[in-house]
Amino acid sequence: MNDLQWKKPVGTTLSRTPSALACDAHPTRFGGTGQARPLRAKGRRHQRGGFASGALAAAVLLAGCTDGPDDRAHTLAQRYLVVDTHIDAPYRLYREAADLGISVPAREFDFPRAREGGLDVAFMSIFTPARSADAGESRRLADELIDLVEGLAEKHPGKFRIVTCTEDVAQLRGSGRVALALGMENASPLEGTLQNLDHFVARGIRYVSLAHSKSNRYADSSYDLNERWDGLSELGKETVPELNRRGVMIDISHLSDKAAWQVLELSKAPVIASHSSLRHFIPGFHRNMSDDMVKAVADGGGVVQINFGSGFVSDDAREWAMRRDAAMLAHFLGLEPDAEARRGFREAYAAEHPYPFATVDTVLDHIDRAVALAGIDHVGLGSDFDGVGDTLPIGLKDVGDFPNLVAGMLERGYDEDAIAKILGLNLMRVWRDAERYAAGQGFASRCYQSATMLRRRPESG
Ligand SMILES: [Zn+2]
Repeated sequence: MNDLQWKKPVGTTLSRTPSALACDAHPTRFGGTGQARPLRAKGRRHQRGGFASGALAAAVLLAGCTDGPDDRAHTLAQRYLVVDTHIDAPYRLYREAADLGISVPAREFDFPRAREGGLDVAFMSIFTPARSADAGESRRLADELIDLVEGLAEKHPGKFRIVTCTEDVAQLRGSGRVALALGMENASPLEGTLQNLDHFVARGIRYVSLAHSKSNRYADSSYDLNERWDGLSELGKETVPELNRRGVMIDISHLSDKAAWQVLELSKAPVIASHSSLRHFIPGFHRNMSDDMVKAVADGGGVVQINFGSGFVSDDAREWAMRRDAAMLAHFLGLEPDAEARRGFREAYAAEHPYPFATVDTVLDHIDRAVALAGIDHVGLGSDFDGVGDTLPIGLKDVGDFPNLVAGMLERGYDEDAIAKILGLNLMRVWRDAERYAAGQGFASRCYQSATMLRRRPESG
């Protein structure tokens, strides 16, 4: 499919502002019109009036148009495909049930805000913590998390659909629904067998992060000082081509440097970093990508999806967390506090030492640098919504806030084509490359959406 055809008509759930009606100079390919709304009050850009530059203001006035750049940002977020490769909604659902088909202000992903923010493809993280593998429960947990995502799509077929191939995404275009794709964070549920890999591929997993917080049987983790494999284990090395062969994208987020480099060398298809930012801004934070790694991902045709969490983008925020953890260690005399005591300490500490939240601009700094290093075709978005606690930047608090990022990109001079690539086209290209490689190996990606649509489910919810 031609990348430009990923443009979409706007959904039907939002109302238009009078200024947008007067000033929509960007009709979509499908004959719809872009939709513009003022930014939500919590976005920092809401407080900013006027235009980014005199030239832009003059051009807009000449056109008899009253839209500001924020309106244009909303229009673009609705018009172009927005893909987020890392949302931790499933694990939060597992911990505490909620109906994400309706507004759930306590969460960072729900249908109303996904539509408001223009989010089209939400990769649901099928995340299993290291302790679940220790307990022999990671496979069961991963299945349960996928059940939860399927349950959400089944409850609200008019709002959500599961997608397992790029063609599924194309079919959903313009339907007003949010596509739910599946990525596995931590390969532990595969338990070292190809049968399990086939099981999870059949259930829709389309990327796998080989490790998480601890080294596992596949790979070493960036968070684990014990690099037991010196990168990938033999099993991990054998699993890379098996993932390639099945069209599953390989995610190097969370891997130790050695493991990431080995994946980059072994993978036959482009790789992704599903939710990582740049180490340049937080020296020594190995969970983020080094400059060389960003370039290598790009050289292989892959994409680095920038994580929004303040602790991933701001050195101040990272240092704050280290000071708090040191204070906690001292407070509990080096003993591990229980969950309640830990929460109590953290709340008291935060009350006394306000958290230095990053801003939209901090995230944009990472995007700028990644683009400078890798080129415009190799950068995207992996928010980590619902996965980083109360650390999200001011103006990027949930899936409704993508337009704030677009407004910032416009201000920094990105043109529409560049913005569309970062919002989603780059990731879709990598996904298609993974499918193409698999097809060349005789593996046809199973498309869930097409099959589901043929069943003609009643449209409700
Ligand atoms: Zn993660």
